[in-house]
This record gives sequence, structure tokens and C-alpha cells, in this order.
Amino acid sequence: MNNPVRYPEIVPLVLDGNRVRDEIKSECRPRVERVLAHAGRPPGLSVVLVGENPASQVYVRSKTKTAGELGIYNETITPAASITTDELLALVNQLNARPEIDGILVQLPLPKHIDEQRILLAVAPEKDVDGFHPCNVGLLATGRPGPRSCTPAGIIELLKRYDLPIAGKQAVVVGRSDIVGKPLSFLLLHENATVTICHSKTRDLPAVCRTADILVAAIGRPAMVTADFIRPGAVVIDVGINRITDRAEAERIFGSSDGSSDLGPSRLADFDKRGTVLVGDVNPADMARVSSAYTPVPGGVGPLTIAMLMKNTIESAERRTGLC
Ligand code: NAP
Repeated sequence: MNNPVRYPEIVPLVLDGNRVRDEIKSECRPRVERVLAHAGRPPGLSVVLVGENPASQVYVRSKTKTAGELGIYNETITPAASITTDELLALVNQLNARPEIDGILVQLPLPKHIDEQRILLAVAPEKDVDGFHPCNVGLLATGRPGPRSCTPAGIIELLKRYDLPIAGKQAVVVGRSDIVGKPLSFLLLHENATVTICHSKTRDLPAVCRTADILVAAIGRPAMVTADFIRPGAVVIDVGINRITDRAEAERIFGSSDGSSDLGPSRLADFDKRGTVLVGDVNPADMARVSSAYTPVPGGVGPLTIAMLMKNTIESAERRTGLC
């Protein structure tokens, strides 16, 4: 095997999403108190979890646990997977009409027989704390205030809180989903980055990625982005969350460490203990070797999404109770 290319010694900054999440949460607490004092009730979040998807159940539990810790009223409504689109629409409309509910979150994915687009359109835009409603996407595109999609908003918070400049930088976002790639591209543009959006039809993806001062991978393909995609010294944001259950794949990703990072052996040991391991869309050892700053997986972007959901819920409560 060829020796890996050696880059000049750069000790990269590891962008700690847990630290930033805790900062955001501690800023949320007094705002919850303020809503309570002003309106006589805390901000309210209603989560709709259809069926029994285990991954969705875990996500929803983390969201409601965080809401509870912050003093946000929260409830989880759990219709059976057999619910029809019309029945779910009726449920969303009931939540739209409840004054003490500031945020409605319909956990995705919905069962196949449900018309997801109709459900997301039915959520009142002022209660759409996910920022998915086309009205809120329009506010984002035109740079007007409104709820922002949580993961992209969390990434901007992370860059700002680490004082990593965005204005004037070349940002390359790989992935054009409505949830991550597109809204993040708008947010980076509003921060005055020059933004390139890539996808599965982009020609010579590594070359386009190498133009990036800020490279974002939101692809959903384990460790697809390797050293040849990363300009030495770039900031790399790895949004991907991929669960590996095959040891050969874990070895391919974590066992290829050239010794410049201790990520490999410890992550393989994790795999051997649990039979599974999480990996992002960027090869972790390459990211640590070539970038100047990067988000680890886990512990980078992931923790910020829920914190931003809490922020969106509180902001909705502030708007709806006349506090701002
Ligand atoms: P998605 O809807 O599946 O979109 C993936 C995007 O990647 C698409 O735009 C697709 O291009 C592009 N893509 C796929 N294969 C590619 C390739 N070989 N080369 C270039 N582009 C390629 O995924 P998503 O919802 O945005 O999520 C992306 C990742 O982020 C997933 O791992 C997900 O689990 C993770 N995620 C994490 C958080 C968090 O809180 N950290 C939140 C949301 C998502 P096309 O459009 O051409 O198909």
C-alpha cells in the first residue's frame, strides 16, 4: 500500500458540539423564565410520533428530555402506525388551535402510506419549530426572521462561537436536502460566504471540495469524504450520522489510521464492545490529519440540533406571547 500523503503539522481544533449545546441550553433557561413570568405559562412543545420506529423513539425521548430540563412544557402524542393522512391532519389542526402550544414537531419519517408533504404543510407556520414549512423556507431564502432548520442553524452557531470566520470564505456544501444542505447553504450565503452546493451529479466532487475553506458533508455515506477532498487547513463540518454494523467496514474506516490520529484503535474497540459504531460522512483520521478544525462524530454537529429546537420553541413562545 502507498504511504499516505503527509501534510504540514497542523494541530486541528476539535469543535465540541456538547460544549456549545450546553452554552445554548444555559442561555435558554432565563428565556423560559421570562415567558413564564410574562404569559403565566412556559413555552409549549408538542411532538407527534407516529408508529414505533426505534430510532425515532430515541430522538423524541432526547428532545422531550431536554425540553423538560429547560422547563418547557412538552408532550408526546403517539398515534398508531395505522393512522390515516386525514386523521393525522385533524390531529395537527387540533394542535394548531391550542394556544399553549408554541411548537409542533412531527417526527420524520412517517409511515409510507401517509402523505408527508400534506402533513408538513398543515403545521401552522408560526408553530413550525423545525423550519420545514415552505413559508419559513421562504423567510430563510429572503433573509427575514423566522424559525430556521435546526441542524443548519446549529452549524452556524458552532462556527460563530468558535470565532471561525464565514464572511468572504469559500464554502462547499455536499448534499442538497431540504433538511440540511439547502437551508445551510442559505444561512452561509447570508453570512457572506461564497457558496457552492454539490450533490450526486456533481462532476469531479473531490476537486470542487478542495476549493473549500469551509467544507460541509451532509451526504449520508459513511466516510465517503477522504483526504483528497480536503484542502489542507480547511474547516470541515461533518453532518453525517451513519451506523456501521459490519466489522470489515469498521476496519476499513477506522483501521486505516496511519498513526497520526488515535481515532482508529479506540473506535474499533468501541465496535468490538458494542457490535456497532457511528461514523460521519468524512473519514475521521483524514479529517483530523488535514483540516484546521473539524466536528467529530459523535459529539460535533449532532448535539446542536436539539439545542436549536429548544431555541426555536422559546422564540416561537416569545413571538406568540408578544415578548418580541
Ligand atoms: P439526504 O436527504 O439523503 O440527502 C443526501 C444528499 O447527499 C443528497 O443531496 C444527495 O444528492 C447527496 N449525495 C448522496 N450521495 C452522494 C455522492 N456520492 N456524491 C455527492 N452527493 C451525494 O440526507 P440528509 O437528510 O441531508 O442527511 C445527510 C446526513 O446527515 C445523514 O447521514 C443524516 O443522518 C445526517 N443528519 C444529521 C443530523 C444531525 O443532527 N447531526 C441531522 C440531519 C441529518 P442528490 O440530491 O443528487 O440525491
